[in-house]
Amino acid sequence: MAARKFRKVMAANRGEIAIRIFRACTELGISTVAIYSEEDKLSLHRYKADEAYFVGKGKSPIDAYLGIDELIALALKADVDAIHPGYGFLAENAEFAEKCEAAGIVFIGPTAEMQRALGDKVAGRKAAVAAGVQVVPGTEEPIAKEEEALKFAKEFGYPIIIKASAGGGGRGMRVARNKKELLEGLVAASSEAKASFGNAAVFLERYIENPKHIEVQVLGDNHGNLVHFFDRDCSVQRRHQKVVEFAPALCLTQTQREELCTAALKIAGQVKYRNAGTVEFLVDQEGNHYFIEMNPRIQVEHTVTEMITGRNLVQSQILVAAGHKLSDPEINIPSQSAIDMRGYAIQCRITTEDPANNFAPDFGTLTTYRSAAGAGIRLDAGNAFTGAKITPHYDSLLVKVSSWGLTFKDAAHIMNRALQEFRVRGVKTNIGFLENVVTHPVFIKGNCDTSFIEKHPELLQ
Ligand code: ADP
Repeated sequence: MAARKFRKVMAANRGEIAIRIFRACTELGISTVAIYSEEDKLSLHRYKADEAYFVGKGKSPIDAYLGIDELIALALKADVDAIHPGYGFLAENAEFAEKCEAAGIVFIGPTAEMQRALGDKVAGRKAAVAAGVQVVPGTEEPIAKEEEALKFAKEFGYPIIIKASAGGGGRGMRVARNKKELLEGLVAASSEAKASFGNAAVFLERYIENPKHIEVQVLGDNHGNLVHFFDRDCSVQRRHQKVVEFAPALCLTQTQREELCTAALKIAGQVKYRNAGTVEFLVDQEGNHYFIEMNPRIQVEHTVTEMITGRNLVQSQILVAAGHKLSDPEINIPSQSAIDMRGYAIQCRITTEDPANNFAPDFGTLTTYRSAAGAGIRLDAGNAFTGAKITPHYDSLLVKVSSWGLTFKDAAHIMNRALQEFRVRGVKTNIGFLENVVTHPVFIKGNCDTSFIEKHPELLQ
């Protein structure tokens, strides 16, 4: 079937990713539709689209963006051809993908079946095993009885990580170093999983000490073609949540890079994946890699991959969803070798959080907002301008700063300079903390593992 041309696309999201989607659409000559909640009626994403509609009357600020039937009815009324879900909210909701398609609206992402085959960590592990890719030793199924957990502990020993099947954002995870912690952790992780994801299922994995988190960006068209866009290092984490990401990883040899990218394509191929996705691995101190999960969506840190490859991933998502082959001139990826990389890119997530107070979210009005500019910097901001009201209702991401340099050191220096240029007053931010990270000698060597922030309390000063 020939590719079609979308006339109008809706972003079923808010903040920076909604604006990112509108920019991609406008560059492709596609009209844009925003949705906004009561709490977001003055938010920037509303004004960055060609049309904007209020949604979620009487609903909570989060639920306003989760009304599947309301959003689809609105999309039909506004005559949109396709919906881009961004990340979070409905991005990994198979029912939403299904209902969009049933209503004749293209869902810009993988099919509901692919989401089901990957969205759940236990299912994702099975897909990896079927593809012949090494996973972290773990239980094949969620834990139904204490005895199963104890049996696993006996076989593999401690430490063990308890993870929610439906988990995300670092929630629902517990590390257990002995039997007592394992049994208590099972109960705690399970109830946290139930509260956060509506699904209490938890499973076990061997806990790898001080690994690196390396992930591979993939993209597939609707015709069975798949490519990767190399790797990102997302090891700088706080409580298992990414804080600074960069591409490409410095710790991989050429052979390791090829192995990881090949493994990522195998897993994506196993589920006949389409659209953008990320295959995540842990790399241990000996350099062995283990699959942990595949995220069937665009990710926050996609900007660094765009900067090193010169490719526009969000536009590619839209074009493949419209039926274009990767090799079509619009996307222009006739083969894997058409994708190359140059230099290094780093992304910092500036958040409205107070590092001195355990990163508690801060709220209020931005009395001053002056952002960085100049060579080598890209900004993806949400509701960031002087006078903007930062509310407690949504996540605390204010602006993503991405830097590019020919060497990693250049990229780090540009990032530090950019962070110093920011003036944000009225609401506390983590800018000082980020400056400490990107100037730290371990970071400059590209050698942080996931315990870096925990091991360096001086970063908080
Ligand atoms: P989420 O979906 O909540 O982000 P992930 O499975 O992607 O969870 O893991 C997030 C982070 O948690 C990893 O980057 C790593 O720091 C840590 N982690 C996850 N699994 C393990 C493991 N088996 N051993 C050590 N650390 C782990």
